[in-house]
Amino acid sequence: MRILVVGAGCTGAATALRLRENLGDGAKIQIWDKARGAGGRYTTSRATYPDGLKADMGAQYASVDPKDKGSVELMNAIVEAGAAAPAPETLLAEIAERPRGTTQYRGTNGQNGIVKCMIERSKAEVHFEKRVMKLDQRGKGWSVTSRDGAPQEFDCVILCVPGCGTGGDNLNKIHGNWERLLTNAQWGHTEVPHDCRYSVALWLHPGHRKALEAFFGESFERRCSGGPELLAWQSRKDGESPDGPQVVVVHTPPDARGNKNQAEPRLISEACRLLKIPDQVVTSSKIITWFQSQVLSKTSPSPCLVASESPPLVLAGDYLTASTFTGCVSSATAAAEAASKLLAGGRPSTGGGYPVQNTPKAGQDVLADHVGTSTLTDQEKAFLKTAKKVREVLKFEATSAGKDLDKMQTKKLEGKQGLLLELSSIEKDLPLDSGLRVKNKDVLDALAAG
Ligand SMILES: Cc1cc2nc3c(=O)[nH]c(=O)nc-3n(C[C@H](O)[C@H](O)[C@H](O)COP(=O)(O)OP(=O)(O)OC[C@H]3O[C@@H](n4cnc5c(N)ncnc54)[C@H](O)[C@@H]3O)c2cc1C
Repeated sequence: MRILVVGAGCTGAATALRLRENLGDGAKIQIWDKARGAGGRYTTSRATYPDGLKADMGAQYASVDPKDKGSVELMNAIVEAGAAAPAPETLLAEIAERPRGTTQYRGTNGQNGIVKCMIERSKAEVHFEKRVMKLDQRGKGWSVTSRDGAPQEFDCVILCVPGCGTGGDNLNKIHGNWERLLTNAQWGHTEVPHDCRYSVALWLHPGHRKALEAFFGESFERRCSGGPELLAWQSRKDGESPDGPQVVVVHTPPDARGNKNQAEPRLISEACRLLKIPDQVVTSSKIITWFQSQVLSKTSPSPCLVASESPPLVLAGDYLTASTFTGCVSSATAAAEAASKLLAGGRPSTGGGYPVQNTPKAGQDVLADHVGTSTLTDQEKAFLKTAKKVREVLKFEATSAGKDLDKMQTKKLEGKQGLLLELSSIEKDLPLDSGLRVKNKDVLDALAAG
């Protein structure tokens, strides 16, 4: 059984781990990520800084909802493995990035260490610099094409990349026939508002301990206004000596705009002004534009989306839940559970909160004559009406096989393509809980051929 998880961020790592827990050692789980390392928005930059210093440039902490048993237990295991530690609340600033009531954890070797720990435990085979460009259903499996490789076949795919949005690498960038499987309502759930922020890390020469202590007091970070929103003293968080070189990370408020090359020197100057140190003490810096930094509001009623039952294709990510460790883990857990059940030949339980696209309502075969049933919506009635027309044309086609077709017959058959298109387009727009779908083999074959 070959399973591909796309994305080595917090959601992808947790998905791979949950799959391993569900499916055991026999499952061949691969993770592909376009980046050079694991982490995604739990990213830690090391290359820019000498002396082993680092900078967490996305999430400064992993926020855990203490009421969510699954993510609390997973974080406890990560803490036990030595990859994370709780951060004392009194040393942190109160900012919107971290929802009230959540508990914060720092990666002991950078935030991406939390993601790496989950990947290691999943025993998945990880491939970096592998950007998925295309995903196509081929027979009973998925054919996945990366930018630089030949297509590879998998029995199941779980997409753990950011939801649709402006800029960035997200679902919008993965093309193929899978795109036709999502309903309009499902596409809507993938396209939720995100904030857009710059994150800038500054490496400072030694000798500015007093200025930093005067600004931060006893804390790891400080909230500001009228410029950067947050200054985080990374080296203090990491337990580095305050007398050596230091790293400070700056986050702007949401809604960052403009060219990042122009923003970088401006943000450096603003941070130095706040810290009361000259700009010249900054010897290295790095800026990241987070076009899809954090989800502002979600619309999905379920923590994952099942795009296809057979072969299984499931979507997971913070855009379906919340931009926290708990949000990523809940989505990952639901996605792994749905995929595991489908691979075992079962159906994911709708009670689990992740509706399956086109689950048939009990006893409803759309090719039976349901038109006029009063409990159906207008859209469902239209679907049934078109399905009925398709059936008639197919019946006509079957009876006329082998005979010479006159003009009228040809016209009727030409209409088949239009009807099939109409049918699949109405089907895509049916509400998530509608449950109607084409079940008749002839129609399915005709749709596949069309
Ligand atoms: C500035 C900032 C502050 C934040 N603060 C907090 C906080 O305080 N607490 C908290 O809990 N969370 C915080 N977050 C949110 C948190 O970082 C995210 O919710 C979480 O990292 C999302 O994880 P993910 O795996 O769903 O997505 P991502 O981390 O975005 O991972 C997606 C992965 O998919 C890969 N990818 C994308 N497209 C492709 C492709 N075509 N092929 C292969 N790979 C692909 C990417 O390279 C990436 O590694 C913050 C985020 C930011 C940016």
